[in-house]
Amino acid sequence: MSEADTSFVPQLDARQRAMLAEMGVRVWAPRPVAATAPAQNETAKAAVAAPAPVVARAAPVAPPASAAPARAVAPAAPTVAAPVADVAQVPRIAGVELMDWATLRDTVAGCTACGLCQGRKNTVFGVGDQQADWMIVGEAPGENEDRLGEPFVGAAGQLLDNMLRAVGRSRSGQGAQGSYIANVIKCRPPANRNPQPDEVARCEPYLARQVALVQPKVIVAMGRFAVQSLLKTNEPIGRLRGKVHRYEGVPVIVSYHPAYLLRTPGDKAKAWADLCLAMDTLENA
Ligand code: SF4
Repeated sequence: MSEADTSFVPQLDARQRAMLAEMGVRVWAPRPVAATAPAQNETAKAAVAAPAPVVARAAPVAPPASAAPARAVAPAAPTVAAPVADVAQVPRIAGVELMDWATLRDTVAGCTACGLCQGRKNTVFGVGDQQADWMIVGEAPGENEDRLGEPFVGAAGQLLDNMLRAVGRSRSGQGAQGSYIANVIKCRPPANRNPQPDEVARCEPYLARQVALVQPKVIVAMGRFAVQSLLKTNEPIGRLRGKVHRYEGVPVIVSYHPAYLLRTPGDKAKAWADLCLAMDTLENA
């Protein structure tokens, strides 16, 4: 893997850089842009001549030991395929494709299109910059997400935050420092069971509309159900990683769910490689 110029470490303070370096995470850095060709050449030479980076594309940071517990039942192992519902056979929620943000949020909050509405405390709509060029798509709310109405909280959420920080982004940032985060399923499945194909199919128009409104330049799909919903495939994550897929014309990078990474830390390096592919894809968009 290529090494990068660590003199370019955007939007991170010294404490964050030290933390990432200590944990073996190489912070993704955009290619320097020069005003003229000669200057660009000089910059490129400087990058090549720069000292070795902290660590080449290692695994993202693990959350602190004191972090809140992960979902009681984490997403299923990503190497097992699940059936994908025939979306054409599932009644569509009318008019979602024309909704603005406020209408979409209100519609989700009152949705009873599938049985998951019966056990929810809150719908989990999404969070982040609604004009972000970078979008994270996860699977379904767990207990903490259901309680707080926000995706990716608890230990898995902290890991995702660390992963985002390592590429100079956050869930509260804006523009090039921001991201928009949403799940395929907006209501928590009982006891954190896997979502059923018809539940995924019924909820999917909401995510589709979120993608259409955000208009991201890259989507990182995390976890089996996110991947299968966006790409309409039963292929396991391991066979889909490392390639640039498309959803409604938007590049999609396939990766593991942070809850899975907490259980399988040996795959963190692969997840980090996926993030790097996403950043490269965004840079070339
Ligand atoms: S999971 Fe989706 S389709 Fe089912 S009730 Fe909740 S918002 Fe509606």
